[in-house]
Amino acid sequence: MNNNNAQQKVIVVGGGIGGLAAAMSLTRQGIEVQLLEQADKIAEIGAGIQLGPNAYSALDALGVGEAARNRSVFTDHLVMMDAVDASEVGRIDVGESFRKRFGNPYGVIHRADIHLSILEAVQEHPLISFHTSTRIDNVEINDDGVVVTDTNGNQFKADALVGCDGVKSVVREQLVGDAPRVTGHVVYRAVVEAEEMPEDLRINSPVLWAGPRCHLVHYPLRGGEQYNLVVTFHSREEEEWGVREGSQEEVLSYFQGIDERPHRLLSLPKSWKRWATADREPVESWGEGRATILGDAAHPMTQYLAQGACMALEDAVTLGEAIRVCDNDLEKAFRLYEEIRIPRTARVVWSAREMGRLYHAKGVERQVRNALWAGRSQERFYDAIEWLYSWNVENCLKHPGEK
Ligand SMILES: Cc1cc2nc3c(=O)[nH]c(=O)nc-3n(C[C@H](O)[C@H](O)[C@H](O)COP(=O)(O)OP(=O)(O)OC[C@H]3O[C@@H](n4cnc5c(N)ncnc54)[C@H](O)[C@@H]3O)c2cc1C
Repeated sequence: MNNNNAQQKVIVVGGGIGGLAAAMSLTRQGIEVQLLEQADKIAEIGAGIQLGPNAYSALDALGVGEAARNRSVFTDHLVMMDAVDASEVGRIDVGESFRKRFGNPYGVIHRADIHLSILEAVQEHPLISFHTSTRIDNVEINDDGVVVTDTNGNQFKADALVGCDGVKSVVREQLVGDAPRVTGHVVYRAVVEAEEMPEDLRINSPVLWAGPRCHLVHYPLRGGEQYNLVVTFHSREEEEWGVREGSQEEVLSYFQGIDERPHRLLSLPKSWKRWATADREPVESWGEGRATILGDAAHPMTQYLAQGACMALEDAVTLGEAIRVCDNDLEKAFRLYEEIRIPRTARVVWSAREMGRLYHAKGVERQVRNALWAGRSQERFYDAIEWLYSWNVENCLKHPGEK
């Protein structure tokens, strides 16, 4: 309980989508936030991101829905194609009936644009101060608060701490102490101008070409002026989590036997960035005392459901709601937040792995995959994704099935 009427202060470590969203959510409960980011400026990488209707619900609850909507492209379908014979495997209509069912659209947006949509609100907020070039390397949790120390020896004190410091979280290292699971799956991402995109592939939908042990995705950005390209494959190398420059030669070596329609896309980017990906096995606890974690620090996941950032946004809103219903008792609120978020995000982590298996199927698995959704009605698709997309601020503290 916040029983001394003093202004509550929380430290948020990390200025990614999760950290910015957490900062906004905390201020909505009257809490002052110190946002600590290791980079010298708060920014996002040049690539796209897909946002489900649950993400727009969260953005609305944070007060930045309109800014994000104005920068989004709302898509018509989610399409899966077989990359070997270019046959259609499945198609979900995300138009009018989808929006009506889930209360929000399915969108795609440049990562810099979603980040900026939250950052603008953070920068204007009188309760938020942020410190760049501040890399945290130690966390101390006491009965009455937290002390974090950066690599220059500067100390920051507050009533509580939320670690939003990504896949290799230092905060998680101290609170949980487990290791990420390197998947061995490598992702290349690039953005190309619309005029470079083959005309027949300028489609207003995320289109996924599923190939054996690899897949490729494209979708429009910024009013269709650009296209995001993402390719993924099972690496032959021993991978370590991280980002480096990639090479077209490597990409091409993994996409042999792929139909010419998607294959043409592999030669378009002039430079590629290469991510070796990781997730983590879900755990039963994310924190202790007045410390917890959020976003990729809490539940890094493979990108196959396009939900990592959506989950970080949901986390942030849920954390704020937990604080509200716990009357600003931060320790109690953090445990309530974890009780609700751990099982939901674990389901997403495991479901994403399963989707990856479908995307990369070969042989008989591929045949089964291609027959899986044949003739399925849109209503049945919607029923199957209801658990994921129907999240909103009103139901965020409910357990599954609770009315
Ligand atoms: C290829 C790919 C495609 C994806 N596509 C989608 C998609 O379509 N839709 C979707 O919802 N999600 C997608 N995701 C997932 C999404 O990108 C992440 O889940 C999301 O960005 C996580 O945000 P975050 O703020 O938790 O972590 P991060 O974005 O990693 O931010 C962490 C921040 O903390 C800072 N930091 C780290 N350590 C410290 C420290 N010790 N001290 C201070 N600061 C620190 C970092 O500099 C960084 O700014 C994708 C991911 C990948 C890899």
